[in-house]
Amino acid sequence: MENDLDQKEWDVVIVGAGMCGLMAARKLMAAGLRVAVIDKGRGVGGRMAYRRIGEAIFDHGAQYISARSDGFQKSMQEWQENGAAAVWSEGFAELPGDHPRWRGAPHMKAIPSLLADGLPVLTNAKITEISKHGDRWEVVLENEIRYVCGALIMTPPVPQSVALLGGIFHEFSEEMRAQLERLTYHRCFAVMAVLDGASGLPRPGVKTFSDGSLAWMADNQMKGISPVPCVTIHASHDFSLARWEEDRQETARMMIAHASPWLAAQVTEFQIHGWRYSKPAVTHDAPFLVLQHQPYLALAGDAFGIIHRGNVEGAATSGWAVAENVIEFFSRK
Ligand SMILES: Cc1cc2nc3c(=O)[nH]c(=O)nc-3n(C[C@H](O)[C@H](O)[C@H](O)COP(=O)(O)OP(=O)(O)OC[C@H]3O[C@@H](n4cnc5c(N)ncnc54)[C@H](O)[C@@H]3O)c2cc1C
Repeated sequence: MENDLDQKEWDVVIVGAGMCGLMAARKLMAAGLRVAVIDKGRGVGGRMAYRRIGEAIFDHGAQYISARSDGFQKSMQEWQENGAAAVWSEGFAELPGDHPRWRGAPHMKAIPSLLADGLPVLTNAKITEISKHGDRWEVVLENEIRYVCGALIMTPPVPQSVALLGGIFHEFSEEMRAQLERLTYHRCFAVMAVLDGASGLPRPGVKTFSDGSLAWMADNQMKGISPVPCVTIHASHDFSLARWEEDRQETARMMIAHASPWLAAQVTEFQIHGWRYSKPAVTHDAPFLVLQHQPYLALAGDAFGIIHRGNVEGAATSGWAVAENVIEFFSRK
């Protein structure tokens, strides 16, 4: 199988090496299609992200993974056997559903890194332009490198995919554009705070909030990913939206002040990250949306799918589903 990214002609190009794009790519490659995955990030994983501050390790995007379908449970078990996943807790008292919550091992990015192994994935590669040439797509990167393909799958958060399509988006029907334009996402500030002692969070190291400025707190040491005490604090959508243009350091200090009843230790260092698109607020009922067939273009990701959506499992399910559709498309050619 051709695995060389010097190659410029592909059957399928996937925009985004998050859970959706990687799951789709593995399935397409297994079906014998030539697929390239392109991501603007420094590494793979997208919102399955982690960060280090000194010795402290934080998951600052996705916090845990639920596996409700048989297929995804099987994947989680495979990743566990490969050392890239572990059960964080058999259930969170604070959250509905008495099922295991998984984590990446040693951190969340371990799972996408395992999935990317052996795939043609180009990172640090921002796509800036997409254009149509007969029955092919041409995808242009920031550094002017061009890839050509017969099928394009776009997995970034939908507003980013729409912006990337530029003028092409306006060629689609009003109904289709409206379906995509209604898909919105929550904003979320993530504060990563290093502590000088154990946090005051109860085992397994989680606190959720149903109103106010905070949405979530997790103790990364209790979770088993950090050798030293540190917490991830997520702000609520309303707070994040209201503070989006304000001073980030001050916002982080406000979040730490709100979290202080559960800290039980001093914060020695902190960083803040703003997720403009964290989890989808409004989702599309189908697991992907085909915008056109010749050349093939589909949008997929965690905003698509009625059963599992808005989370890692939803992104994986969407990736599998769109890959099946692309395989069918090539089998008809
Ligand atoms: C703060 C936060 C907390 C969360 N908590 C949980 C949780 O606890 N449990 C859970 O299951 N889910 C959680 N999620 C949601 C989960 O992370 C997502 O549902 C899932 O990771 C989405 O995967 P995806 O592949 O659809 O998209 P993404 O992971 O966003 O992947 C899309 C990729 O496209 C790339 N891209 C975008 N534009 C371009 C471009 N122009 N050129 C090239 N590449 C581009 C991006 O770099 C990105 O890597 C959380 C998310 C956030 C942010």
